[in-house]
Amino acid sequence: MAQLLQGETGQWELVIGLEVHAQITAQSKLFSGAPTTFGAAPNTQVSFVDAAMPGMLPVLNEKCVEQAVRTGLGLNAVIHKVSVFERKNYFYADLPQGYQISQFLHPIVGKGEIEVDLSDGSVKKIGVTRLHLEQDAGKSLHDQHPTKSFVDLNRSGCALMEIVSEPDMRSAEEATAYLSKLRMILQYLGTCNGNMDEGSMRADVNISVRKPGDELGTRCEIKNVNSLKAVQAAIEYESRRQIESIESGEPITQQTRLWDPAKMETRPMRSKEEAHDYRYFPDPDLLPLELDEGLIEKIRATLPELPDEKKHRLIETMGLSIYDAGVLIAERRRADYFEIVAKNRDAKLAANWVINELLGLLNKNGQTLEESPVSAQQLGGLIDLISDQTISGKIAKDVFAEMFETGKNASDIVEEKGMKQVTDTGAIEKIIDEVIAENPDNVTAYRSGKDKLFGFFVGQVMKKSQGKANPATVNELLKSKLGQ
Ligand code: ADP
Ligand code: MG
Repeated sequence: MAQLLQGETGQWELVIGLEVHAQITAQSKLFSGAPTTFGAAPNTQVSFVDAAMPGMLPVLNEKCVEQAVRTGLGLNAVIHKVSVFERKNYFYADLPQGYQISQFLHPIVGKGEIEVDLSDGSVKKIGVTRLHLEQDAGKSLHDQHPTKSFVDLNRSGCALMEIVSEPDMRSAEEATAYLSKLRMILQYLGTCNGNMDEGSMRADVNISVRKPGDELGTRCEIKNVNSLKAVQAAIEYESRRQIESIESGEPITQQTRLWDPAKMETRPMRSKEEAHDYRYFPDPDLLPLELDEGLIEKIRATLPELPDEKKHRLIETMGLSIYDAGVLIAERRRADYFEIVAKNRDAKLAANWVINELLGLLNKNGQTLEESPVSAQQLGGLIDLISDQTISGKIAKDVFAEMFETGKNASDIVEEKGMKQVTDTGAIEKIIDEVIAENPDNVTAYRSGKDKLFGFFVGQVMKKSQGKANPATVNELLKSKLGQ
């Protein structure tokens, strides 16, 4: 939702555009065969190309190109049949080439869009300006030695997609919703794992303020904003800062600022560099990249069902609530898990078990779905026992707790512990007769009109059966016996 901020001179509107760097999921780097595994010992995944040894030549990794195209298609974007790699020149200790190979005038992917879901239930379309391929830089480590800095080149040369949005967002909520949705789409596509903690997905936040209806204001770009919470906090801080600065007579100058998560503030880093500062020029080691229609169509044919489509299907054909569908599609693995549980079963019951019981318990134990001791097939097996009335919903919760602890199948637990629901009317009648015999006063009271006591009798019978009596049978038999 657009959100206006109150200043001393009236209301202000926020304008936000995001530049997201997403590391491409691929075995090897953009221009070399070195591996990309996260967390490897420093400088163990560095080829001569990544270390920029003289005379080394980049060789484009086809898999990375396919991943970029796949992402473009997933964002409903224009795929450019010809794109050009250019050198973006700058000096940095962890950039041994002295330039980054990127795409500038001719990116591989052009305009697209993302639909984001907002908390008031509305849906807003945010434009994607472009997506281009580029190399990542290495990493400087300043915390390993009291007086020295070290450089780790493992990340040097890894393939990134830079995904640039239009300045279409009007609040921190819209910005975080955009980022979450983008991450979800990348995860569904399998083109980036979206792991912000590991730096696989990083966002630069561009922000300006204006009086509603005015032209766009001057923006600042905030770097190093690496979680959804930080994006939220940085936008809140920076928008206030800009409003106060303008209102006190100091116009905003275009600037690159750094988010400091410890102090929860943005600080100036450098005045905004211009494209000409980088001296972009086409990389003479690389030919223009030409894609043929056949490759694009081949990739299109393998696109998975994306989050929005999946959500609509869960609501419309499986009958789930909007809320449940939203929770289930939030992560691809979660949606996949649910679909196995729900296959040929009652979808609403399956959704309940996945959301309330399984996710609830995992959350409580601080575990992820991948660590779940209960597989989707096993949870499905438990639901089958409820549906065919082998156990009641109540007993099922105990069985589930045991499955979670031991990893055993529901049917084995029910068998071992004799938890089968008693539907045998003879056995239930026997218990009812006992309960009636033990509570003569209540029986008299009930028969003389105290209807509320019915619940008491049900409770007694269930207790005596250790929760195993079929509740519907108990109700029916009790009614007829007490009515006598
Ligand atoms: P650069 O490459 O110099 O960072 P771009 O034109 O690619 O510049 O824009 C970067 C980002 O800034 C984009 O996401 C865009 O939407 C956003 N942006 C552009 N103008 C504004 C503005 N006035 N306020 C907020 N964001 C803006
Ligand atoms: Mg930028």
